[in-house]
Amino acid sequence: AAGGEQAASGKSSIPGVKKIIAVASGKGGVGKSTVASNLAIALSKTGARVGLCDCDLYGPSISMMFGSHDRPMANEHDEIIPVEAHGILLMSMGFLLEERSPVIVRGPMATRYTQQFLRQVAWGELDYLVLDLPPGTGDIQLTIVQTVAVDGAIIVTTPQEIALIDARKAVSMFAKVNVPILGLIENMAWFECEHGTRYHLFGEGGGTREAETLNVPLLARIPIEPPVREAGDSGKPIALTDPSASTASAAFHDCAAT
Ligand code: ADP
Repeated sequence: AAGGEQAASGKSSIPGVKKIIAVASGKGGVGKSTVASNLAIALSKTGARVGLCDCDLYGPSISMMFGSHDRPMANEHDEIIPVEAHGILLMSMGFLLEERSPVIVRGPMATRYTQQFLRQVAWGELDYLVLDLPPGTGDIQLTIVQTVAVDGAIIVTTPQEIALIDARKAVSMFAKVNVPILGLIENMAWFECEHGTRYHLFGEGGGTREAETLNVPLLARIPIEPPVREAGDSGKPIALTDPSASTASAAFHDCAAT
């Protein structure tokens, strides 16, 4: 019945893909791609088959975060074969660009590219396809959530007021298109120094309060941990390491479990 409703609303599913989860943020730089990458890995560690589609054409980061510079090939049906890294099937503009070359695509073309990433990629049988949406709530994001049958959305924010205001906009965008919010992730929630003192660099508890106000679950609070950035930069997301190794790694595994 859900499929019927989705179809009636102009959204269509992706054949072979059981669940589509969008990771969104109102503001850039809050850790959305970090969350999407680590969530994809943590989900695959539960035994699921997982794909990750980087819908951020203008600032693709998934290829770097997975340390892959492979070029996707086409199969005999003219579909793009996703790149596989750390057991995750990936598609990102980063694979199609030379390093340092900017993407110059305008609105309608951008929408076409994104649709191609979703529809003309041989995703195969997936338990989860995670969509790393571009930051914000503009036309590109809206088109994706209006046309693809997204099962649920995760909103990433920092505790900072400006990020929370933008996160609220993301929540209302999903409400408008009837996509359930799975929850909020408060990233960069604090930094703990070697003496155990916590510094709330972007303010304290903003994500927790916002989740209560919006009546959505708070899925995780993730501290700033330099290894999270180092792992992302080195192409091996932190969730690949033992969850007991860091609070962040544990948080991603908990998120995937729920
Ligand atoms: P967005 O996708 O929202 O633009 P990114 O995931 O690219 O944000 O994160 C921005 C930068 O912050 C990256 O360099 C990333 O490694 C770093 N980062 C994100 N979350 C954390 C964290 N919890 N601890 C340390 N660094 C982080």
